[in-house]
Amino acid sequence: MSVEKLPARAEDYSEWYNQLVLRADLADYAPVRGCMIVKPYGWTLWENIQQALDRRFKATGHVNAGFPMFIPKSFLEKEKEHVEGFSPELAVVTIGGGEELEEPLVVRPTSETIIGHAYARWIKSYRDLPVLINLWNSVVRWELRTKLFLRTAEFWWQEGHTAHATYDEAEAETRQMLEVYADFAVNDAALPVVQGVKTESEKFAGALRSYTIEAMMGDTKALQSGTSHNLGQNFARAFNIQYLDRNNEQQLCWTTSWGLSTRIIGAIIMAHGDDQGLILPPKLAPHQVVIVPIFKNDAERGPVLEAVQRVRAELAAEAIRVKVDDRDTVSPGFKFNDWEMRGVPVRVEIGPKDVEKGSVALARRDKPGKEGKSFVQQAGLDSTVKNLLVEIQDALLKRAIEYRDANIHDPKDYEELKKVVQDGWAFSYWCESRECETKVKEEAKATTRNIPFDQPEKEGKCIVCGKPSKRKVYFARAY
Ligand SMILES: [Zn+2]
Repeated sequence: MSVEKLPARAEDYSEWYNQLVLRADLADYAPVRGCMIVKPYGWTLWENIQQALDRRFKATGHVNAGFPMFIPKSFLEKEKEHVEGFSPELAVVTIGGGEELEEPLVVRPTSETIIGHAYARWIKSYRDLPVLINLWNSVVRWELRTKLFLRTAEFWWQEGHTAHATYDEAEAETRQMLEVYADFAVNDAALPVVQGVKTESEKFAGALRSYTIEAMMGDTKALQSGTSHNLGQNFARAFNIQYLDRNNEQQLCWTTSWGLSTRIIGAIIMAHGDDQGLILPPKLAPHQVVIVPIFKNDAERGPVLEAVQRVRAELAAEAIRVKVDDRDTVSPGFKFNDWEMRGVPVRVEIGPKDVEKGSVALARRDKPGKEGKSFVQQAGLDSTVKNLLVEIQDALLKRAIEYRDANIHDPKDYEELKKVVQDGWAFSYWCESRECETKVKEEAKATTRNIPFDQPEKEGKCIVCGKPSKRKVYFARAY
């Protein structure tokens, strides 16, 4: 019995991904096309992501709440750009309890409208501001071309919704939450994202301005991994979110929204995985360490399992997430492959010789074969493993940075741009016209990802039309 090999990542990246998601036991297909079942291993990973984000949201003053999944259809029609953006992908409920509904309900594609309705009732005075609420929920967008985690009709996420007295406060909030996402992506998910502002054509439907973090996947395509929108007064106007200011005058609020979804799991898979399967960053891994006992007979079994339980308890006491694989039905070799497939950062092997010598074998998931293997003493194993987890976390980030930087190009002209975006990103001057953006999209299948905050000091010329340009933008094929 052995774990069947995945398709080679370099040969069929898409099928490598599809099979990895199933074999690593993260998710499964659902009976409704485009929907996704997240299995316990995938959900635990999501819970770790949630905790890492939730901690940051609360540290920046936000609180969680629950909002309904059904929204009166008329709510969506109140903000023109918003309804245009979302109409094609709405799921609509017309019957409830066997009766035709007076007004159809949409299953939330996002909650700006129902939030707008509630905030208009809750906010009366400047004393009520800011309102800083986050929701953990799932939303539905009727996608036709779907892929587990990356694009599904229903997906899980968080959506933050805030209301402020001034433009400056709303803008500061939008940028702060982008920073929170980037901090999480880099330090917990080991994804070296680029931060920047979306172009007008790529921004959120109804937003004044959208910011994103963009990550490079293992096939050099870009993945938008989190978004933060300054909604200006668009939703405040549509839903009449007003407050009385200090001079007793009515003012419209300024609102924001920001979201990060289970898509990030797709990003983690694609940025770090290899031909053996998933490689999880230790900070998010459901199991940081798996212990595999090795014995041939009953005489060896007792002392080995005793050592395994002792080591497990020592690691768990240091808050290391540790799992003992004591399955009797499969061989140690099968277990090695299985946990490699599932991306556990560190494997501990304990056999009869280790019991005698007071040692264990350690194997790093990020370094396959002999290179990642070491033999260490059981005494002090807790600190050895702690240090190793930090080292692996750092190594994953370093590798992802090197890969990203090696695949961002500075093409000298439009012809070269068309070539480099077939296998990498282009970082180029652009005149900010819709025409040039569309041309690249049509001719090179690359979209503008974002305009980063860090810009060269000198001005340049648009890579497409040659007109003067102040800012560079990332062009890339994207998921
Ligand atoms: Zn141009």
